[in-house]
Amino acid sequence: MSTLLTYIAVHDGKIKRSSLEVLSRCNELAAELGWESVALVLQPDATKAIEGLKPYGPAKIYTMSHPHFHQHLTTPLLRAIGHAVKEIQPRVVAFASTEGSKDLLGALSAAHGSAALPDMSEFSIDTEGVSGKRPVMAAKILSSVRADGSPVFVSVRSGSYNPEEREGEAAVQELSFSFNDADLRTTLREIVTATSDKIDLSEAETVIAAGRGVKDEEGRALIRELADVLQAGVGASRALTEAGIYDPSLQIGQTGKVVSPQLYIGVGISGAIQHVAGMSNSKVIVAINKDPDAPIFEIADYGIVGDLYKVLPPFIDEIRRIKSA
Ligand SMILES: Cc1cc2nc3c(=O)[nH]c(=O)nc-3n(C[C@H](O)[C@H](O)[C@H](O)COP(=O)(O)OP(=O)(O)OC[C@H]3O[C@@H](n4cnc5c(N)ncnc54)[C@H](O)[C@@H]3O)c2cc1C
Repeated sequence: MSTLLTYIAVHDGKIKRSSLEVLSRCNELAAELGWESVALVLQPDATKAIEGLKPYGPAKIYTMSHPHFHQHLTTPLLRAIGHAVKEIQPRVVAFASTEGSKDLLGALSAAHGSAALPDMSEFSIDTEGVSGKRPVMAAKILSSVRADGSPVFVSVRSGSYNPEEREGEAAVQELSFSFNDADLRTTLREIVTATSDKIDLSEAETVIAAGRGVKDEEGRALIRELADVLQAGVGASRALTEAGIYDPSLQIGQTGKVVSPQLYIGVGISGAIQHVAGMSNSKVIVAINKDPDAPIFEIADYGIVGDLYKVLPPFIDEIRRIKSA
Protein backbone atom coordinates (compact mmCIF):
# COMPACT_ATOMS: atom_id res chain seq x y z
CA MET A 1 0.00 0.00 0.00
CA SER A 2 1.30 3.49 -0.85
CA THR A 3 1.89 6.00 1.90
CA LEU A 4 1.43 9.75 2.31
CA LEU A 5 3.66 11.21 4.98
CA THR A 6 2.87 14.52 6.71
CA TYR A 7 5.61 16.29 8.64
CA ILE A 8 4.12 17.72 11.83
CA ALA A 9 5.65 21.00 13.01
CA VAL A 10 5.51 21.69 16.75
CA HIS A 11 6.16 25.10 18.27
CA ASP A 12 6.52 25.62 22.03
CA GLY A 13 5.06 22.16 22.59
CA LYS A 14 1.99 22.92 20.49
CA ILE A 15 1.23 21.20 17.19
CA LYS A 16 0.93 23.81 14.46
CA ARG A 17 -2.58 24.15 13.09
CA SER A 18 -1.14 24.42 9.56
CA SER A 19 0.36 20.92 9.91
CA LEU A 20 -3.02 19.54 10.98
CA GLU A 21 -4.55 21.14 7.90
CA VAL A 22 -2.06 19.31 5.67
CA LEU A 23 -2.53 16.05 7.57
CA SER A 24 -6.31 16.34 7.15
CA ARG A 25 -5.93 16.81 3.39
CA CYS A 26 -3.59 13.80 3.21
CA ASN A 27 -6.11 11.73 5.20
CA GLU A 28 -8.80 12.67 2.72
CA LEU A 29 -6.64 11.82 -0.30
CA ALA A 30 -5.46 8.56 1.26
CA ALA A 31 -9.09 7.54 1.86
CA GLU A 32 -9.95 8.27 -1.79
CA LEU A 33 -6.97 6.33 -3.13
CA GLY A 34 -7.04 3.46 -0.65
CA TRP A 35 -3.60 4.56 0.58
CA GLU A 36 -2.28 5.18 4.07
CA SER A 37 -1.81 8.60 5.65
CA VAL A 38 0.89 8.74 8.33
CA ALA A 39 2.48 11.51 10.39
CA LEU A 40 6.06 12.21 11.43
CA VAL A 41 6.93 14.29 14.46
CA LEU A 42 10.44 15.30 15.52
CA GLN A 43 10.85 16.72 19.01
CA PRO A 44 13.19 16.40 21.99
CA ASP A 45 10.51 14.04 23.31
CA ALA A 46 8.28 13.40 20.32
CA THR A 47 5.99 11.08 22.29
CA LYS A 48 4.48 14.20 23.90
CA ALA A 49 2.80 15.08 20.60
CA ILE A 50 1.07 11.73 20.20
CA GLU A 51 -2.12 12.49 22.14
CA GLY A 52 -2.58 15.80 20.31
CA LEU A 53 -2.19 14.09 16.94
CA LYS A 54 -4.36 11.04 17.43
CA PRO A 55 -7.74 12.82 17.06
CA TYR A 56 -6.71 13.89 13.56
CA GLY A 57 -6.69 10.27 12.45
CA PRO A 58 -3.36 9.34 10.88
CA ALA A 59 -3.03 5.58 10.43
CA LYS A 60 0.37 5.75 12.10
CA ILE A 61 2.43 8.29 14.02
CA TYR A 62 6.18 8.04 13.60
CA THR A 63 8.16 9.71 16.35
CA MET A 64 11.83 10.65 16.45
CA SER A 65 13.27 12.15 19.61
CA HIS A 66 16.53 14.06 19.93
CA PRO A 67 17.58 17.18 21.88
CA HIS A 68 18.50 18.94 18.60
CA PHE A 69 14.84 18.99 17.58
CA HIS A 70 14.21 21.63 20.23
CA GLN A 71 15.05 24.27 17.63
CA HIS A 72 15.25 24.47 13.88
CA LEU A 73 18.68 23.09 13.02
CA THR A 74 18.91 22.31 9.33
CA THR A 75 21.43 19.47 9.31
CA PRO A 76 19.82 17.25 11.97
CA LEU A 77 16.38 17.88 10.51
CA LEU A 78 17.49 16.96 7.00
CA ARG A 79 19.18 13.81 8.27
CA ALA A 80 16.16 12.81 10.35
CA ILE A 81 13.58 13.40 7.65
CA GLY A 82 15.85 11.71 5.11
CA HIS A 83 16.09 8.69 7.40
CA ALA A 84 12.32 8.63 7.90
CA VAL A 85 11.74 8.79 4.14
CA LYS A 86 14.07 5.82 3.68
CA GLU A 87 12.25 3.82 6.35
CA ILE A 88 8.68 4.73 5.40
CA GLN A 89 9.13 4.97 1.59
CA PRO A 90 6.25 7.43 1.13
CA ARG A 91 4.98 8.46 -2.29
CA VAL A 92 4.47 12.01 -1.04
CA VAL A 93 5.97 13.98 1.85
CA ALA A 94 3.77 16.95 2.76
CA PHE A 95 4.67 19.95 4.91
CA ALA A 96 2.89 23.10 5.95
CA SER A 97 4.50 25.99 4.10
CA THR A 98 6.49 27.71 6.84
CA GLU A 99 9.87 29.40 7.15
CA GLY A 100 11.11 26.05 8.45
CA SER A 101 9.85 23.99 5.53
CA LYS A 102 11.23 26.57 3.06
CA ASP A 103 14.62 25.75 4.52
CA LEU A 104 14.17 22.01 4.04
CA LEU A 105 12.18 21.36 0.89
CA GLY A 106 14.80 22.11 -1.75
CA ALA A 107 17.56 20.26 0.09
CA LEU A 108 15.34 17.21 0.61
CA SER A 109 14.30 17.03 -3.01
CA ALA A 110 17.92 17.45 -4.16
CA ALA A 111 19.07 14.72 -1.77
CA HIS A 112 16.39 12.34 -3.02
CA GLY A 113 16.68 13.30 -6.70
CA SER A 114 12.98 14.04 -6.74
CA ALA A 115 10.63 16.97 -7.27
CA ALA A 116 9.47 19.63 -4.85
CA LEU A 117 6.24 21.60 -5.15
CA PRO A 118 6.50 24.47 -2.66
CA ASP A 119 3.80 26.78 -1.36
CA MET A 120 0.77 25.11 -2.92
CA SER A 121 -2.71 26.44 -2.28
CA GLU A 122 -4.34 23.14 -3.25
CA PHE A 123 -3.07 19.72 -4.22
CA SER A 124 -4.27 16.32 -5.38
CA ILE A 125 -2.51 13.02 -5.72
CA ASP A 126 -2.81 10.21 -8.27
CA THR A 127 -0.80 7.10 -8.90
CA GLU A 128 1.78 9.03 -10.97
CA GLY A 129 2.42 12.02 -8.73
CA VAL A 130 1.09 15.29 -7.37
CA SER A 131 -0.75 18.12 -9.11
CA GLY A 132 -2.28 21.33 -7.88
CA LYS A 133 -2.30 25.09 -7.82
CA ARG A 134 0.40 27.47 -6.70
CA PRO A 135 0.03 31.24 -6.36
CA VAL A 136 2.82 33.06 -8.21
CA MET A 137 3.66 36.70 -9.12
CA ALA A 138 2.62 37.99 -5.70
CA ALA A 139 -0.43 35.68 -5.81
CA LYS A 140 -1.80 37.56 -8.82
CA ILE A 141 -1.67 34.42 -10.90
CA LEU A 142 -2.47 30.82 -9.97
CA SER A 143 -0.24 28.36 -11.80
CA SER A 144 -1.19 24.73 -12.36
CA VAL A 145 1.77 22.53 -11.49
CA ARG A 146 2.48 18.84 -11.56
CA ALA A 147 5.34 16.63 -10.42
CA ASP A 148 5.62 12.93 -11.11
CA GLY A 149 7.80 10.36 -9.43
CA SER A 150 8.32 9.33 -5.87
CA PRO A 151 8.65 10.78 -3.35
CA VAL A 152 7.33 14.23 -4.22
CA PHE A 153 7.96 16.89 -1.54
CA VAL A 154 5.06 19.30 -1.19
CA SER A 155 4.46 22.30 1.04
CA VAL A 156 0.99 23.77 1.47
CA ARG A 157 -0.02 27.32 2.39
CA SER A 158 -1.74 27.60 5.72
CA GLY A 159 -5.48 28.12 5.52
CA SER A 160 -5.81 26.04 2.36
CA TYR A 161 -7.63 23.22 4.16
CA ASN A 162 -9.47 22.77 7.43
CA PRO A 163 -8.06 20.60 10.18
CA GLU A 164 -10.57 17.79 10.63
CA GLU A 165 -10.76 15.26 13.38
CA ARG A 166 -11.54 11.71 12.34
CA GLU A 167 -12.01 8.38 13.99
CA GLY A 168 -9.29 5.77 14.14
CA GLU A 169 -6.67 4.52 16.50
CA ALA A 170 -3.24 5.52 15.25
CA ALA A 171 -0.40 3.05 15.70
CA VAL A 172 2.77 4.62 17.07
CA GLN A 173 6.30 3.76 15.98
CA GLU A 174 9.51 5.24 17.31
CA LEU A 175 12.22 5.67 14.69
CA SER A 176 15.77 5.66 15.97
CA PHE A 177 17.95 8.69 15.35
CA SER A 178 21.48 9.44 16.33
CA PHE A 179 23.52 12.47 15.40
CA ASN A 180 27.19 13.24 15.71
CA ASP A 181 27.60 16.85 16.85
CA ALA A 182 30.83 17.09 14.83
CA ASP A 183 28.54 17.11 11.76
CA LEU A 184 26.86 20.33 12.83
CA ARG A 185 28.00 22.92 10.31
CA THR A 186 26.17 25.75 12.01
CA THR A 187 25.37 26.37 15.62
CA LEU A 188 22.26 28.23 16.66
CA ARG A 189 23.51 30.57 19.34
CA GLU A 190 20.47 32.65 20.11
CA ILE A 191 16.96 33.25 18.86
CA VAL A 192 16.37 36.96 18.94
CA THR A 193 12.65 37.53 19.22
CA ALA A 194 12.00 41.07 18.16
CA THR A 195 8.38 41.13 19.13
CA SER A 196 6.85 40.35 22.47
CA ASP A 197 3.56 39.48 20.79
CA LYS A 198 2.72 35.97 21.90
CA ILE A 199 0.41 35.26 18.98
CA ASP A 200 2.13 33.70 15.99
CA LEU A 201 0.88 35.70 13.00
CA SER A 202 1.12 32.81 10.55
CA GLU A 203 -1.08 30.63 12.77
CA ALA A 204 -3.39 33.34 14.18
CA GLU A 205 -7.15 32.83 13.84
CA THR A 206 -7.66 36.60 13.71
CA VAL A 207 -5.23 39.18 12.34
CA ILE A 208 -5.43 42.97 12.60
CA ALA A 209 -3.18 44.60 10.03
CA ALA A 210 -2.18 48.25 10.31
CA GLY A 211 -1.32 50.37 7.28
CA ARG A 212 -0.05 53.86 6.57
CA GLY A 213 -3.42 55.28 7.62
CA VAL A 214 -2.40 54.44 11.20
CA LYS A 215 -0.38 57.57 11.68
CA ASP A 216 0.48 57.94 15.33
CA GLU A 217 0.53 56.54 18.83
CA GLU A 218 -3.22 57.04 19.14
CA GLY A 219 -3.79 54.90 16.03
CA ARG A 220 -1.42 52.19 17.24
CA ALA A 221 -3.19 52.11 20.60
CA LEU A 222 -6.50 51.57 18.80
CA ILE A 223 -4.99 48.71 16.79
CA ARG A 224 -3.67 47.14 20.02
CA GLU A 225 -7.02 47.55 21.71
CA LEU A 226 -8.88 45.93 18.81
CA ALA A 227 -6.36 43.07 18.78
CA ASP A 228 -6.75 42.55 22.54
CA VAL A 229 -10.50 42.47 22.43
CA LEU A 230 -10.45 39.93 19.58
CA GLN A 231 -7.39 38.06 20.88
CA ALA A 232 -5.81 38.69 17.52
CA GLY A 233 -2.27 38.88 16.17
CA VAL A 234 -1.09 42.28 14.93
CA GLY A 235 0.56 42.67 11.55
CA ALA A 236 1.43 45.63 9.34
CA SER A 237 1.96 46.72 5.78
CA ARG A 238 5.44 47.43 4.51
CA ALA A 239 4.73 51.15 4.68
CA LEU A 240 4.80 50.86 8.48
CA THR A 241 7.56 48.28 8.87
CA GLU A 242 9.86 50.29 6.58
CA ALA A 243 9.12 53.40 8.59
CA GLY A 244 10.25 51.51 11.70
CA ILE A 245 6.81 51.88 13.30
CA TYR A 246 6.17 48.13 13.43
CA ASP A 247 8.81 45.46 13.65
CA PRO A 248 9.79 43.94 10.24
CA SER A 249 8.79 40.50 11.58
CA LEU A 250 5.18 41.74 11.54
CA GLN A 251 5.11 42.60 7.85
CA ILE A 252 2.44 40.79 5.88
CA GLY A 253 2.87 40.29 2.17
CA GLN A 254 5.07 39.16 -0.65
CA THR A 255 8.25 40.02 1.22
CA GLY A 256 6.77 39.40 4.65
CA LYS A 257 4.62 36.75 6.28
CA VAL A 258 1.78 34.87 4.66
CA VAL A 259 -1.26 34.81 6.91
CA SER A 260 -4.48 32.89 6.46
CA PRO A 261 -6.67 33.66 9.45
CA GLN A 262 -10.40 33.09 9.77
CA LEU A 263 -10.72 36.87 10.08
CA TYR A 264 -8.38 39.56 8.70
CA ILE A 265 -9.09 43.22 9.44
CA GLY A 266 -7.03 45.68 7.40
CA VAL A 267 -6.99 49.16 8.91
CA GLY A 268 -5.74 52.07 6.78
CA ILE A 269 -4.26 49.70 4.21
CA SER A 270 -4.71 50.39 0.49
CA GLY A 271 -4.46 46.77 -0.70
CA ALA A 272 -1.34 46.86 -2.90
CA ILE A 273 -0.78 43.51 -4.65
CA GLN A 274 2.38 42.91 -2.65
CA HIS A 275 0.37 43.13 0.57
CA VAL A 276 -2.55 41.11 -0.79
CA ALA A 277 -0.10 38.32 -1.70
CA GLY A 278 0.27 37.65 1.99
CA MET A 279 -3.36 37.73 3.12
CA SER A 280 -5.62 36.79 0.22
CA ASN A 281 -6.13 33.30 1.70
CA SER A 282 -7.92 34.81 4.74
CA LYS A 283 -11.43 33.40 5.16
CA VAL A 284 -13.19 36.70 5.91
CA ILE A 285 -11.60 40.02 4.96
CA VAL A 286 -12.71 43.28 6.55
CA ALA A 287 -11.30 46.60 5.36
CA ILE A 288 -11.47 49.97 7.08
CA ASN A 289 -10.34 52.77 4.79
CA LYS A 290 -11.41 56.36 4.22
CA ASP A 291 -11.00 56.06 0.45
CA PRO A 292 -13.99 54.25 -1.12
CA ASP A 293 -11.84 53.46 -4.18
CA ALA A 294 -9.05 51.76 -2.21
CA PRO A 295 -8.20 48.45 -3.97
CA ILE A 296 -8.59 46.51 -0.70
CA PHE A 297 -12.37 46.89 -1.05
CA GLU A 298 -12.21 44.76 -4.21
CA ILE A 299 -11.21 41.71 -2.17
CA ALA A 300 -12.96 42.60 1.10
CA ASP A 301 -16.02 40.67 2.25
CA TYR A 302 -17.01 43.63 4.44
CA GLY A 303 -15.87 47.20 4.09
CA ILE A 304 -16.20 50.27 6.25
CA VAL A 305 -15.52 53.55 4.46
CA GLY A 306 -14.43 56.04 7.06
CA ASP A 307 -11.68 57.55 9.14
CA LEU A 308 -10.19 54.80 11.29
CA TYR A 309 -9.84 57.21 14.22
CA LYS A 310 -13.60 57.67 14.21
CA VAL A 311 -14.56 54.13 13.17
CA LEU A 312 -12.45 52.10 15.57
CA PRO A 313 -13.61 53.37 19.00
CA PRO A 314 -17.31 52.50 18.52
CA PHE A 315 -16.31 49.35 16.60
CA ILE A 316 -14.23 48.15 19.57
CA ASP A 317 -16.98 49.11 22.04
CA GLU A 318 -19.54 47.14 20.06
CA ILE A 319 -17.35 44.03 19.93
CA ARG A 320 -16.83 44.31 23.70
CA ARG A 321 -20.57 44.66 24.23
CA ILE A 322 -21.35 41.60 22.07
CA LYS A 323 -18.66 39.55 23.78
CA SER A 324 -19.88 40.38 27.25
CA ALA A 325 -23.56 39.79 26.43
C1 LIG B 1 9.17 44.29 -4.36
C2 LIG B 1 8.14 44.83 -3.40
C3 LIG B 1 7.75 44.04 -2.34
C4 LIG B 1 6.79 44.53 -1.44
N1 LIG B 1 6.40 43.73 -0.41
C5 LIG B 1 5.42 44.18 0.41
C6 LIG B 1 4.93 43.35 1.47
O1 LIG B 1 5.41 42.24 1.71
N2 LIG B 1 3.93 43.83 2.23
C7 LIG B 1 3.36 45.08 2.03
O2 LIG B 1 2.43 45.44 2.79
N3 LIG B 1 3.82 45.86 1.06
C8 LIG B 1 4.83 45.45 0.25
N4 LIG B 1 5.29 46.28 -0.72
C9 LIG B 1 4.82 47.69 -0.73
C10 LIG B 1 3.48 47.84 -1.40
O3 LIG B 1 3.65 48.03 -2.77
C11 LIG B 1 2.73 49.08 -0.83
O4 LIG B 1 3.56 50.21 -0.98
C12 LIG B 1 2.37 48.95 0.63
O5 LIG B 1 1.69 47.74 0.86
C13 LIG B 1 1.45 50.13 1.01
O6 LIG B 1 1.13 50.07 2.36
P1 LIG B 1 -0.19 50.75 2.90
O7 LIG B 1 -1.37 50.12 2.27
O8 LIG B 1 -0.09 50.73 4.38
O9 LIG B 1 0.00 52.26 2.46
P2 LIG B 1 -0.73 53.11 1.36
O10 LIG B 1 -0.72 52.42 0.05
O11 LIG B 1 -0.15 54.48 1.43
O12 LIG B 1 -2.24 53.14 1.84
C14 LIG B 1 -2.67 53.80 3.00
C15 LIG B 1 -4.18 53.71 3.01
O13 LIG B 1 -4.66 54.24 4.23
C16 LIG B 1 -5.84 54.95 3.96
N5 LIG B 1 -5.99 55.93 5.04
C17 LIG B 1 -5.21 57.03 5.30
N6 LIG B 1 -5.63 57.64 6.42
C18 LIG B 1 -6.70 56.95 6.86
C19 LIG B 1 -7.58 57.10 7.98
N7 LIG B 1 -7.42 58.09 8.85
N8 LIG B 1 -8.60 56.21 8.12
C20 LIG B 1 -8.78 55.20 7.23
N9 LIG B 1 -7.98 55.01 6.17
C21 LIG B 1 -6.95 55.87 5.99
C22 LIG B 1 -5.64 55.58 2.60
O14 LIG B 1 -6.88 55.84 1.97
C23 LIG B 1 -4.85 54.49 1.88
O15 LIG B 1 -5.70 53.63 1.14
C24 LIG B 1 6.24 45.83 -1.62
C25 LIG B 1 6.65 46.61 -2.71
C26 LIG B 1 7.59 46.13 -3.58
C27 LIG B 1 8.00 46.97 -4.75
